[in-house]
Amino acid sequence: MRIYETGKMEAKASTEAKASTEASGNELFTIICNKCKKAIKVENNIVKEGLFETEHRFGYFSQKDGEVHSFDLCEDCYDQITGEFLIPPEVRGVNEVL
Ligand SMILES: [Zn+2]
Repeated sequence: MRIYETGKMEAKASTEAKASTEASGNELFTIICNKCKKAIKVENNIVKEGLFETEHRFGYFSQKDGEVHSFDLCEDCYDQITGEFLIPPEVRGVNEVL
């Protein structure tokens, strides 16, 4: 789950930070693992630890046609979930070209 900053906290307002789950061009504030609610470290809009992020649009023949589902998992939860797979995920190396 992604939470975005929507504005500066006002000095004498409530202690709650103004935050939103809508992106709308705002800076990424924090990412919460959907499975265990752990806060994933984000600094200056850069994710600083292992993160599995996914967004999937279900197709016509599914019961969720037209719905887009998205969620984030910390690396521990990713390992836990994929550890239950009878066939492990396919893994390949990627050479970053900058
Ligand atoms: Zn987790």
